[in-house]
Amino acid sequence: MGLVTIGAFARASRLSAKALRLYDELGLLVPAYVDPVTGYRRYAPEQLERARLVAWLRRLGMPLARIRAVCDLDGPAAAHEVRAFWAGVEADTAARRDLAGFLVDYLSTGKDTAMTKTTASMEIRYAARSDSGLVRPINQDTAYAGPRLLAVADGFGSAGGPAGAAAVDVLKRLEPDGIAAGALLDALADAVEQAGHTVREIAAAEPAPGEVGTTLTAMLWTGSALALVHIGDSRAYLLRGGELFRITHDHTVAQSMLDEGRITPDEAISHPQRALLLRALAGTGEVTPDTSLHDAHPGDRYLLCSDGLSTVVPTETIHRTLATTATPAQAVHDLVAQAHHVGAPDNIGCVVADVVARRG
Ligand code: MG
Repeated sequence: MGLVTIGAFARASRLSAKALRLYDELGLLVPAYVDPVTGYRRYAPEQLERARLVAWLRRLGMPLARIRAVCDLDGPAAAHEVRAFWAGVEADTAARRDLAGFLVDYLSTGKDTAMTKTTASMEIRYAARSDSGLVRPINQDTAYAGPRLLAVADGFGSAGGPAGAAAVDVLKRLEPDGIAAGALLDALADAVEQAGHTVREIAAAEPAPGEVGTTLTAMLWTGSALALVHIGDSRAYLLRGGELFRITHDHTVAQSMLDEGRITPDEAISHPQRALLLRALAGTGEVTPDTSLHDAHPGDRYLLCSDGLSTVVPTETIHRTLATTATPAQAVHDLVAQAHHVGAPDNIGCVVADVVARRG
């Protein structure tokens, strides 16, 4: 079969003639023949497959430079590249969904009025403990609780302990005066950015900076709500009305495979890449945290913990312990004891806080 005109090729490939001219200029889809006199482009029928692939990838929203790379790969490598692109799109969408949820919550609570109205009526009671466990020679977990801040950081790499402690120290600067509700989102974003900067400085002094970092899961008490920032695989849970809700999403390879339906929840628990982090405050890499805002109800109990608790103590046990212990201090004590009971292979960071009606 002979060469076809750009019009015929456009119809067959469902790309516009204008797009075909652009793709020619970019080297993405070069015509089989260009008439040296008229400049008319002619396409070979066997170019149709590549043209259709380009059209499909455009519909996916893939940038042209990346499409060119995909078109030059063989089938399996191209499939891998498309999968990686889509995982990035979904991660970005998830982060923006969280931000949208945060803004909806924040705007619907009536902003500053909600804060002044309820500040005097509720407070938090809390306890925190960081424990080295029974196997690790050092403790790289940081657990902190104060009148406004709850935080757990699980450091990794040669300076993981200092990295986690430094990240929490940066957030502590938000504590003394409290944050006006209107400035909450920016204050948290700035603090996490600063924490990331501090961790990178600590990592830069180490032999392998890329392997140093920390998770960070923290809640800031505004008086009427708890603002959550989260990056990594430490977790936050809420016990409300006797039910336990996990309110963070692990940024791990295993969790993303679970989300994609490629493994089951049981397989995720024992997956070899269970603890491989997709996101953390680290010497290198992405540092975008999840953020959300949680309305406080008297009677709510929050747990923040590192994976040294959540991967070794079954969720039902955590649930029962939170539901049956009288005080945060007792809950923290019992949870750490349960991790020890099953060998405590990792450090354990644990914070429990109760929302209570203020007396008087
Ligand atoms: Mg850990």
